[in-house]
Amino acid sequence: MKTTKATFSVRGMTCEHCATSLSAAFAVLPGVGEVSVSFPQGLATLRASEGFSAGDVVQAAAIKGYVAELQPGHAPSSRRATTASDDAFDLVVVGSGGAAFGAALRASELGAKVAMIERNTLGGTCVNIGCVPSKALIRAAEAVHRAAHPRFAGVVTQGRVDDFRELMAQKTSLVEDLRQTKYAKVLAETPGVTLVEGHGRFVAPGRVSVNGREIQAERFIVATGMRPHIADVPGLSATGYLTSTGALALDVLPTSMLVLGGRFIALELAQAFARFGCKITVVQRSGHILPTEDDDVTEELERLLVAEGISVLTGARILGASRQEGERVLELEHLGERKWARAEQILVATGRQANTDDLGLDAIGVKLRSDGTIEVDEGLETTAQGVFAAGDVIGEPAFVYTAAYEGRLAAENALLHGPASKQPRNYAPLPAVMFTDPQLATVGLNEKQARVHGIDVDVAKLPFSYVPRALAARDTRGFIKLLRVRGTDRLVGATILAPEAGDLIMEPALAIRHGIPVSELARAFHPYLTGSEAIKLAAQTFDKDVARLSCCAA
Ligand SMILES: Cc1cc2nc3c(=O)[nH]c(=O)nc-3n(C[C@H](O)[C@H](O)[C@H](O)COP(=O)(O)OP(=O)(O)OC[C@H]3O[C@@H](n4cnc5c(N)ncnc54)[C@H](O)[C@@H]3O)c2cc1C
Repeated sequence: MKTTKATFSVRGMTCEHCATSLSAAFAVLPGVGEVSVSFPQGLATLRASEGFSAGDVVQAAAIKGYVAELQPGHAPSSRRATTASDDAFDLVVVGSGGAAFGAALRASELGAKVAMIERNTLGGTCVNIGCVPSKALIRAAEAVHRAAHPRFAGVVTQGRVDDFRELMAQKTSLVEDLRQTKYAKVLAETPGVTLVEGHGRFVAPGRVSVNGREIQAERFIVATGMRPHIADVPGLSATGYLTSTGALALDVLPTSMLVLGGRFIALELAQAFARFGCKITVVQRSGHILPTEDDDVTEELERLLVAEGISVLTGARILGASRQEGERVLELEHLGERKWARAEQILVATGRQANTDDLGLDAIGVKLRSDGTIEVDEGLETTAQGVFAAGDVIGEPAFVYTAAYEGRLAAENALLHGPASKQPRNYAPLPAVMFTDPQLATVGLNEKQARVHGIDVDVAKLPFSYVPRALAARDTRGFIKLLRVRGTDRLVGATILAPEAGDLIMEPALAIRHGIPVSELARAFHPYLTGSEAIKLAAQTFDKDVARLSCCAA
């Protein structure tokens, strides 16, 4: 009988007794011959023959409280896969974005044989048409803006886009590099994962068809993401419009653009294109941009965007779209009046819609919510047993880092845990960043949410005009708000509106996560003059008037 050697790293052993107890647990598993577990090395080496499953080893270790991971290069086929054909897998993941990669990499670590199905470009939204290209252009737009608006006396700079096509080509080259190094290469080096190209559709429980090939598995993870949702505006489709995908792929800069939507994708792109020299009008249905944020935050951000020359029409109802004399025209009802807004292009950024149509989900009993996202339980399993879902396709939160976390958790619940022992998802506290300039970074509760949850809070609000770093940079835009449960030292939320707010949010995020008291944030050393001093000063603001403190007074 053919045997192979399988080596696992084992974490959590504290003495020789742990190694003995694990050896005994592994020795009784199907397909396991000779076993050697070394406490000093943290390794388990097994002789594996027919019937062996790396997942069984991982599970047996987990039951005893240890974490076992199959070492790369030691990946014997698993039990279920070896007894079936090339089209039989332990786990099938539909999609190849952040959620799918999180799932496939974890499943590989657990020794599973995995198929990853992708109908479009490897890597999904974030690297190809989302985070990476948008942030690359936003940084370029910042460079143009800062050069065009020098803040230092005696300094003359000039900022303008000289060759938009070249700028876009540089962005595309970054996308291609990152797709190669962070997705294609990682996939090629991950044992046990096979990429299957084509549109995946469930045809029956346990079976997915891809271009006529039928793939079987006992466990599935649907990670098919979302696409732009197109607002239902009469005449819009005949008029023609861009989505974020089209806007990020333009090679000619439009002279003017109407941006429909007032959330993060709309605002990030609106500001970037405005800074490149495109005349922007943001058209938003709600009374405020970013309607879930506190009013003082959205009002200040809107004021700053308007100060840069962006027009913002909030509370606007779009009645129709048309083309007139080479321009695209929107008919609006705004502040009780009928208005017409015109531009060369229309960018529709009015939300995103789950890719759940044409997946055959009804054939296997997967229920959808009314907005088309997949209904999952806390362990990310859908209403069909053994079928899990992760990432944007299950709805909010819809970020690449939450998608990757969900993919990994779904893989563990699918391969390691039975229905009764699935691990529940837990995002708390979830930091989020909008990459406008200034950026808006949030974690935990804002004032509106604290009110909804009936939590009585004290709020410390510190404008960046009190932060030495901002004064030195001659850029004091924005403020920081910390929320403390009234009568306690407990931080429950932070909102930062500042040029590099995204880099500052992790300190309050970790404080909330690990229960670090507000008084400790106020006391801890924060180097002078760094942006992080803003956190310390804001924490001090609860009990002191920072205007009366000396420069770096503790
Ligand atoms: C403009 C923009 C900017 C963004 N910026 C950020 C940011 O800065 N930070 C951040 O965290 N998030 C950002 N996001 C959100 C982030 O991109 C998504 O949350 C994340 O990419 C979702 O990952 P996913 O794996 O769930 O889905 P996706 O990455 O969308 O992957 C789904 C994949 O499934 C494939 N697929 C769909 N149906 C099928 C099928 N039937 N068969 C086979 N394949 C199929 C699709 O082709 C796609 O490749 C941004 C999004 C956009 C649009």
